[in-house]
This record gives sequence, C-alpha cells and structure tokens, in this order.
Amino acid sequence: MKQPIFLKPLFQERIWGGERLSNTYGYQIPSSQTGECWAISAHPHGQNVVASGYLGGKTLGELWNEQPELFGHFDSDRFPLLTKILDANDDLSVQVHPNDEYAGEFENGELGKTECWYIIDCDENAEMIYGHHAQSKEEFLQLIEEGNWNGLLHRVKIKPGDFFYVPSGTIHALCKGTLVLETQQSSDTTYRVYDYNRPGQDGQPRELHLNKAIEVTTVPHTAAKVEPAVAQISGGSITTFIEEDYFTVYKWDIKNSLSLTQEAHFTLASVISGEGEIISEDTEYSIKSGDHFIIPNQMQSFTIRGNVQLIASHPNSKGGRQRDMERTIRQVANV
Ligand code: ZN
Repeated sequence: MKQPIFLKPLFQERIWGGERLSNTYGYQIPSSQTGECWAISAHPHGQNVVASGYLGGKTLGELWNEQPELFGHFDSDRFPLLTKILDANDDLSVQVHPNDEYAGEFENGELGKTECWYIIDCDENAEMIYGHHAQSKEEFLQLIEEGNWNGLLHRVKIKPGDFFYVPSGTIHALCKGTLVLETQQSSDTTYRVYDYNRPGQDGQPRELHLNKAIEVTTVPHTAAKVEPAVAQISGGSITTFIEEDYFTVYKWDIKNSLSLTQEAHFTLASVISGEGEIISEDTEYSIKSGDHFIIPNQMQSFTIRGNVQLIASHPNSKGGRQRDMERTIRQVANV
C-alpha cells in the first residue's frame, strides 16, 4: 500500500454555515447553510469513505480496525484525529471543549478536544474569540450572570495564513466571514457558553451547557503561544505550526517539487489551494484544491510536484512525544 488513500468529504449543515465550501472547493453541498466539511474522520458522527482504488467504499473506521499496518500500528483505540474545513458565514456559538479525562468520564468515553485552526481565508477585519478576561472562577461566573460578554470575551483580529492553537479548556468562537481548516482530536463534544440569543434550526434557541463549560474552562485564560518554524527548501517550504501532545501540524507549500520522507506513523493531508501530483514509486496521483488523503505508513518517501499548498498533520502519542518530535525533525530536515 504505497499510494495515498483519498477520502470523500462529508458535509454538515449549521445555522452559521454558508456556500463557501462550494464556491471555494467546488463541493456538492446540501444547502446554502453548510458549515462543515468533515474531510478526514472516523468519528461515529460522520465517517469518511475511501473514494477510489481497491479500498474504495471502506470507511476510515473499517480501515483503522482491519488494516492497522496502514497506520503503522499507531497505539490508539480509535483513529485519533479529525480534519474539517469550516465556513463561518455567521458567528459560531462561544464554546469550550473538555479534556480527555473529563470527556472520558462524563461523555461516554469520548476523547477530549484540543484543536487548532489554519485561517484559509477571511473577510477584511475579521475576528475571532480566543480566551477571556476573567481572573478567577468567581469573576468568570459573575460576568456570565451579568451577560457582560464584551467584558468577558477576548477578541483577536485574524488574517489569512494565521494559525491558532486551541487546547481543551479554551473559550473560543469563530466569527463571521472566516474559512478555516481545523485539525482536532477525534471528538464531537462541545459545551456552548453563549449563542447570541438566536434561534437554532428548529426555531428554538440552541441548548447551552453552562455548568459543564464552567467546570472545564481554564481560568485565568493562558494564551497558547504558536511560533511557526519555516524551513525554506528548494522547490518550496515547510512550516511547522505546532507540535504538541496530540498532533503536529504543517503547511507544505510547494512551488515546484518537494521530496519528503515519512517518519511519522501516517500523515493526514488536505490540499487548500493549487494543484499538482503526488508521486510514489513512479506512480503519479493528481491532487487539487479540496482533496483530502492519508499517506499510509508504507509510503515512506514521496514527492509532491506542482504549485500546490497543503495542510498536513500526524498524531502524537501523549507520553511518546519526545520520540515523535525527533521523528518530525528528521522529516523536516529531509531534503
Ligand atoms: Zn471548537
């Protein structure tokens, strides 16, 4: 299995969604309120299916269970990551996610949700909500009770190409006019703190989960620093945005041709712009904006050619972090 495994994207309608997933990537979306493209997922709430080849039609969950060698026998009871593209045509609810320990205990064994965002595109002067100003749980509660959202929430300006790390426990929200690629733990647990008092799909306000949100929110907010490391290589560049317990996320920006050696167990890749080919053992596979695929463990070395930009990620095992970081460094250094 020395070929990329292409997956068929899935779509989720959301009250804050729009048409950008169709306009930007040409996807067939279910409605003009499509918020999420689930691009690489084995989560039970939405599993991708292999698009073609002899594995065509299998779900990612089936592959994970039946062919662990594709994933280098990565030590996890489930496919650990989930890649999405989000079209925030309107503001998302202000929310927070639990960590593994909390989700495992209170959400039927679900994983926690640490996530991160690459801003593919956004309106001029677009913002997001990232963290809060409360210094204590008492102050946090008081500002919520008063409905003093401007006093509580921390807003930041964003621009295309920005990257944000959102560990579990971080209050956050994407705001209107933002197209984002999200890499996250494979989890679908969200605690809503504030939803702008607007109606949901059924006309009723969407449920809030204040008690749980208050329990899991980090107070005071600690801003997680992102210091992207850019390696300029002839033929393109590799930016490493984040290396942490659950995942490492890169941008592969290919201007001509880039050869890579995979030292991670496997890699998730999403083409965010441009087109080209990925070449493995003399076979070329076309790739274009909006494609999503997995580079299996057996695909140790490959070349990407064209003018094409991808966001790539691989899981890290908490505890095995040092080993994985060393592997990552070798991956980046390979030219
Ligand atoms: Zn979130």
